[in-house]
Amino acid sequence: MLKIIITKKRLKQNLKTLNASKIIVAGPCAVESREQIVTTAQAISDIYKANFELKFFRAGIWKARTNPDDFQGIGVEALAWLQEIKKQFGFSICVEVASAAHAHLCLEYGIDAVWIGARTTVNPFLVQSIADALYNSSITVLVKNPINPDINLWIGAIKRFQNVGLKNIIAVHRGFSVENEYVYRNAPCWEIPVELQMKLNNIPILCDISHIAGNISLQQPVAQTAINYGFDGLMVEVHHAPEQALSDRKQQLLPSQLAHLLDSLILTSTNTLADNALFIQRNLIRNLDIQISKLLSRRMKIVEEIASIKRKHGLPLLQPEQWEKVTEIYKEDAIKDDNYQQFVEAFLVLLHRSSLERQGFSD
Ligand code: PEP
Ligand code: MN
Repeated sequence: MLKIIITKKRLKQNLKTLNASKIIVAGPCAVESREQIVTTAQAISDIYKANFELKFFRAGIWKARTNPDDFQGIGVEALAWLQEIKKQFGFSICVEVASAAHAHLCLEYGIDAVWIGARTTVNPFLVQSIADALYNSSITVLVKNPINPDINLWIGAIKRFQNVGLKNIIAVHRGFSVENEYVYRNAPCWEIPVELQMKLNNIPILCDISHIAGNISLQQPVAQTAINYGFDGLMVEVHHAPEQALSDRKQQLLPSQLAHLLDSLILTSTNTLADNALFIQRNLIRNLDIQISKLLSRRMKIVEEIASIKRKHGLPLLQPEQWEKVTEIYKEDAIKDDNYQQFVEAFLVLLHRSSLERQGFSD
C-alpha cells in the first residue's frame, strides 16, 4: 500500500531533493475532454507548485488500444487544449506519437516532447519515419522500450533519433510482455534497463511505474527499485478522478498520491557498478531457474499423460530403450567436465525415478 502517513516537513524536504536530482513526467494516460485535462492539470499544479517541478506534463491523444471498441483518444482536437494547459500552468507538454503524421502535428502545435510507445518501438520502419519527421528539431523524444524484451530493438530506436540530429533523448522503461507474468502488468526484467544504462550512459532513463505495476499498490516498490538502480526519474500516470478514467483506470494515481509516493522514496542509490553487473547476471540465472522449474512441472504432467496412454493400450510402464534416448539428449549438451557430468547423471537418476513414480511404477 502507498505510505500516506508522513509529516509535511519531511514531504517538502524530500521533494526538494527530488526536484534537484530527478526528472518527473506525470499526467493522465489520455486526454478525455477539455474539462478533464484542465481539472487534472490544475490538481497537479496545486501539488507540484508547492513541492517539486514537473519536467513534462504527459497526456496521450492517440491511444494504441488493444480493442477497437475502446476509447481511442481525442486526436488532433486535443492539441489545442494542451496548448492552453501549457499557457495556463507553464507545463512543458509530452504526447505519444505513433506515426510521421502525428509527429508533424506535434511540431506544428509547439509540443515540447513526444514519447514513442512500446507498440511503436517494435517497428523500425515506423520509428524511422517518425525520426525523419522530427529531423533536426529541438523537440525532446522519450523512447519507451519495445513490448518484447529485446534490448537491441530499444537501442536501435534510440539511435534512429540520434542519427537525425536530435539531442534531447530520454529512455523510458515501461516493462515487458512476457509469458507467465502474474505480479506485474508488464514484467520489469530489470537486467535490461540496467544494461541499457551501462551501454548508453549519456542517455537519461526514466521508469514508467504505472505501466509496469498496472495497479496502485505496486508502484512505490517499483519506483524505489528504479532509484536504487540509478534511474534518472519517473513517468507516472496521474488523473484527478482515476475511477472515471477512460483508459488505464486501475493504475492512475491521484495527484496527492503521487506526492506521497515521491516522499516515500529514498533517493540516494547505494548500488555500485559491480552491484549492477552482478544483478544482470543474477537475473539471467533467476529467469533460467524459473524456466527450469516450469519446464520440470510441464514434463511431469506429460509423464502422467504417457502413463495413461500406456495403461489404455496395455503397454509396459518401464521401457528401458526409451530412457536411453532421453539420457542421450542430456549427455550431448552436457559441459565436458567431470564434475558437471556427474551432476547430470545424478539428476537423470532422480528424474527417471520421479517419472516412474508419477506413472505409478514401483519395483
Ligand atoms: C501510455 O503511456 O499511456 C502508453 C500507452 O504506454 P506504453 O506504450 O508503455 O503502453
Ligand atoms: Mn496508459
